[in-house]
This record gives sequence, structure tokens and C-alpha cells, in this order.
Amino acid sequence: MSNRPSRISTDLDFAREGKQEGFLRLPHSVHRSAYGYLPIPIVSIRSGKGLRVLLTAGNHGDEYEGQIALTKLVRALSPSDVSGQVIIMPMLNFPAAQAGMRTSPIDEGNLNRTFPGDADGRPTAMIAHYVESVLMPQVDVSLDLHSGGSSLLYIPGTLARHQADEKRLETVLAAVRAFGAPYSYLMSGGEDRGILSAADRAGILGLSAELGGAGMVTRETLAVTERGIVNVLRHLGVLSGKVEPHTTRIMRVERAPHYVYSPDPGLFEPLAELGDAVRKGQLAGRVHFPETPWREPAPVHFLGDGLVVCKRVPARVERGDCLYHLASDLAH
Ligand code: CA
Repeated sequence: MSNRPSRISTDLDFAREGKQEGFLRLPHSVHRSAYGYLPIPIVSIRSGKGLRVLLTAGNHGDEYEGQIALTKLVRALSPSDVSGQVIIMPMLNFPAAQAGMRTSPIDEGNLNRTFPGDADGRPTAMIAHYVESVLMPQVDVSLDLHSGGSSLLYIPGTLARHQADEKRLETVLAAVRAFGAPYSYLMSGGEDRGILSAADRAGILGLSAELGGAGMVTRETLAVTERGIVNVLRHLGVLSGKVEPHTTRIMRVERAPHYVYSPDPGLFEPLAELGDAVRKGQLAGRVHFPETPWREPAPVHFLGDGLVVCKRVPARVERGDCLYHLASDLAH
């Protein structure tokens, strides 16, 4: 992370009590607007003592469950509901969210592969830098809401990083259980450019979620999302009331054996559905070649045992596109 201060400014005073609505102003000087800025919506609701929580969605702009849930939350919450502080950003990578795209149309930036960001970088890098260097140092918890976006569909679940430290792991699992999604995915190692890694670096509790996807929302995925946010805020004591109990099946995701990729460009015929228990070597599907229809389809096999928790949505595939990913029960 560059040591330079962020160039993003805001009218909000995060130390002030009460409800403030406004924007982060990201300087954006372009042909049609020489002295313009990108207005990233942000709301702070602060009252008295308590934990401070950063709630974000639209990190990937085509993931809508969290964007809707946080928009509803902004309108529903008053300072009198809150003990501590919530900072709410429904469109974290604003240009991507505005375009309904995973990545920003301005700089092609994938925000969740950009942390810790760069104060002097392109807009996506500037947002990552602001989150990690300005927002995270003043909160205790970061909850960032994702889904499968346009190309993937998930069984709704929370997502967290496995923690080597037992105490930190228990803190994460307590929040995961409070959220109460049907599934909870624990990831080991891997990606360090995401917001969960930023939370780890900041020494705060980081929680994410994969709440559905396929470029849509459903009543079910939205209900899981809204309930989960309120439950986590109650669990943290930021909202009053009891956590509504729901059981969650805690799963681990392993990088290599749990992911299935297309070996060729073509049309994918899936042979497994979300929720299926599959075995290593089982046929996952076939890639067909309508450009050469007499050619045999390419078989695709699962590389490990597990439960299908995520699948690709569009049938048209390129070599290297993720078709499925699996998860296994944590205890196993
Ligand atoms: Ca995502």
C-alpha cells in the first residue's frame, strides 16, 4: 500500500453522532467533466458506545442481493436503533455497480482483487486503498456481501477466511453462525487481494457472503441476506434484539480439488446440480462443439469429493471458465 494519503474526500464526519447521508468523492477528471468526481454513496449511523461495523455491497457490481438489502437498511435504520456505529456502502465499486458489471467499466478493475489498493492508482485501486487505509482502521467489523454475479450461482452462504489462531477462528465462526445462512464457506489460504485479507491485515473481524447470483435476486436469497445482516448486527450488540436462530452447515473450500474448469471453448452441458453430493472422477458434464458438430464432446470430471455449492450459469464457455465448485463438511 502506498503511504500517500487517499485523494478521496467526504462530507461525512465518521466521529459524529447521528445519521449522515452523502458520498465519497473520488476525483475523476475526464473529457466530459474536467473537475468532476465519482459520487460513491455512503451512510453513517452512530449512537453511543458499541462496536463499529462497515457494511458493504457492490464490491462486484453485478451482485445485487447485498445492494438491495443495504439500500433497504439505510432507509430503515435510525440512530436510536444503533449502539455503536454502522457505515453502509451499497455500491462500493460505484462505476461497476452502476453498470451492473463485476468489474469497473472505467478501468476494468476487479475491486476484490485490488486490495490494498493505491492512493494514486485508477479509481478501483483508489477505492480499495480508501477502504483499507481510511475505513478499516476506524471499524471493528467488516461485512462485505457478494454472490455469484452474472456467471455463477451459489447456494446462499457466508464466506470467511479460515484462521490459524483458534480464538480468531471462534470469533469468525460465532459471526457465521449468527448470520445463519443455510451454508457457510470457510476458505483456506489463496487470494490475498480481497477485502477479507484487508480485514485480516487491519486486525478486524472480516466476514463475507455468497448469497445467490445469476445476475438476479430471489425472495429466498434476499430473505437470507436481510436476516443475516440483522442477525450479525444483533450478535455484535449494535442492534438490540435476539439473534434469530438458524442452523448453518459449515463447509471448507479447498482450492484445487474443489474447482472444475472447462477444458475447451464450446457449449457446456451440466450433469450435476447445486446441492448434489459428487465423487472424485464423476462426470460433471460435457463441452460440445457445435462449430464442428461431428466432433466428440469433451468430458469434464470432478477432481475431488464434495457438495456442489456453485455452478456456472451461461452455457457458452471458454477454456479456463469455472464450471463448478465444491465444498466439504468442515469436520471431515
Ligand atoms: Ca463476488
